[in-house]
Amino acid sequence: MTHLFNDPHNFPAESLRGFVRAFPTYVAQVHGGVIRATVSPAQQVSIVVGGGSGHYPAFAGWVGPGMAHGAVCGNIFSSPSASQVRSVVVNADNGGGTLMLFGNYAGDVLHFGLAAQELNAQELDVRYVPVSDDIASNPPESSGDRRGIAGDLLVVKIAGAAAESGLDLDGVEAVTRRANDRTRSLGVAFSGCTLPGAAEPLFTVPEGKCALGLGIHGEAGLAMKPQASARDLAESLVDGVMAEEPARGQDGYEGRVAVLVNGLGATKYEELFVLFTSVMDELERRGAVLVRPVVGEQVTSLDMAGVSLSILFLDEELEELWSQPADTPAFRSGNLTGRAAREVAVEDDNELAIEPGSHDSIVQAALMLQAISTFARAAEEAEALLGRLDSVAGDGDHGQAMALGSVAALNSAQESARMSAGAHTLLVRAGRAWAEGAGGTSGALWGAALCAVAAGLSDVTAVDDHGLVDAIIAGAESVTRLGGAKPGDKTMVDATVPFVKTLERSFRAGTGIANSWREAAAAATRAAQETSKIAALKGRARIHGDQSIGHPDPGATSFALLMTAVGAELECSNQQRGER
Ligand code: ADP
Ligand code: MG
Repeated sequence: MTHLFNDPHNFPAESLRGFVRAFPTYVAQVHGGVIRATVSPAQQVSIVVGGGSGHYPAFAGWVGPGMAHGAVCGNIFSSPSASQVRSVVVNADNGGGTLMLFGNYAGDVLHFGLAAQELNAQELDVRYVPVSDDIASNPPESSGDRRGIAGDLLVVKIAGAAAESGLDLDGVEAVTRRANDRTRSLGVAFSGCTLPGAAEPLFTVPEGKCALGLGIHGEAGLAMKPQASARDLAESLVDGVMAEEPARGQDGYEGRVAVLVNGLGATKYEELFVLFTSVMDELERRGAVLVRPVVGEQVTSLDMAGVSLSILFLDEELEELWSQPADTPAFRSGNLTGRAAREVAVEDDNELAIEPGSHDSIVQAALMLQAISTFARAAEEAEALLGRLDSVAGDGDHGQAMALGSVAALNSAQESARMSAGAHTLLVRAGRAWAEGAGGTSGALWGAALCAVAAGLSDVTAVDDHGLVDAIIAGAESVTRLGGAKPGDKTMVDATVPFVKTLERSFRAGTGIANSWREAAAAATRAAQETSKIAALKGRARIHGDQSIGHPDPGATSFALLMTAVGAELECSNQQRGER
């Protein structure tokens, strides 16, 4: 829904006013819409775009060098009037005639057509190309009657570059028509859109479904489908659009395509990129080559959740025009100077090389792997609980951070073990993987702790239980050192300190490591529960003051859970060996 408005009826006008004031170096307001704020070369063909509002950046966001010279801005979802069109065309004229572009809808065809007639009568050469890219709206036999959706961007870009290149109106019109003939789009909606001030959306999509082929105003689509993974959706969209791919090797088409993955207004850019990577895979699997793909919001439909895929099947001239620079408020292409592309390696070259360890160290490494595997299992089991605790006074991600971190550490440790790494190397790599896999405060602290434990181990020999306890104490100390928290600050330190104190005391008093560990884990568990009584003085939760009172600290809780799980494991293997 729309949260920011004054009078709903004034919404388009106020929004346009704000847009013009935000981009004064690009656009100037005239009756009916906007024109470029900069001077264009005399006799340059003028490109005027337009349609209803509610589709930003279409159409006003595309006014600028390399794209449109003016945009006519109607009311929300409704065509501008012929008089508005005339005004923008006359104001944007450079003396070379005008080509108007708009989505193929009855109202737009009427008003733009009428304006063209009237302007022609005044000796102005004004022509138009309605964009008709949406394959869901008509069968291929009547493709010219299809409605226009996000393919608008591709066709307008070609027209703008053609005008910029100095072609005359005949030339610009011809290449623009060819671009429209070779552009296809298919969209999908996950939810409807709501007019400013309205309480109900214009249409709804049932939960768990998506509407394939829905237009940009909520017009009927092809089919209601169960919502699928991004990968499956990419396949459906590519299948739909590529079903109308022209024959390769004919009419200058060799499989090179301009691609737009367009967000409809309420679909996050991150989601668009998730879809795009599969779209690219699908297209490449079909032997297509993507030329300067565009991923983002270009033709929206207020707050509709959904995406569309548009493809322009290029020939040499179209590719040249598609690749020319453009500079508008919402669409930019090309860079300042031609700079060479840089070679970038995706692999992490900071990774510690794996040197095979000695036999004894490999045996100790296997125990470390087992402990990390227990961490990962316990963290995954507690993920939801830890997330809930962290949402009381934090950001709710602690469960996810612990699961991601421990699983990354486990994957790394398994790889190390396969390559016969010693205990030191295995644990250093696992610590780095934890920090990288989890991120966040706890990721940094757990990663550092594993690395600090690793510093007390070796790849050459196995340390005895004394050495192991010393290494674990060093690990816990690194948490205090790195995080700077003291017991009582309500952090994981409240659990790590009693854990190592108890472990050390018990073990030095002659208790075996398994039993010492069990006592230490019990002390950590009690201490973690005790943190319920205090307010956080460190970390994110500090900002929320007393809000965390009554709930234990998430980091202390997860630490206690993981230590308890390893304790149970140690006890189990002790019993199997018949030890006490
Ligand atoms: P983030 O706070 O970055 O979202 P997490 O949610 O994964 O990270 O972890 C939160 C936990 O981190 C807290 O519950 C607390 O136990 C621990 N923590 C926060 N700051 C510190 C610190 N300075 N020292 C030790 N532990 C800390
Ligand atoms: Mg958090």
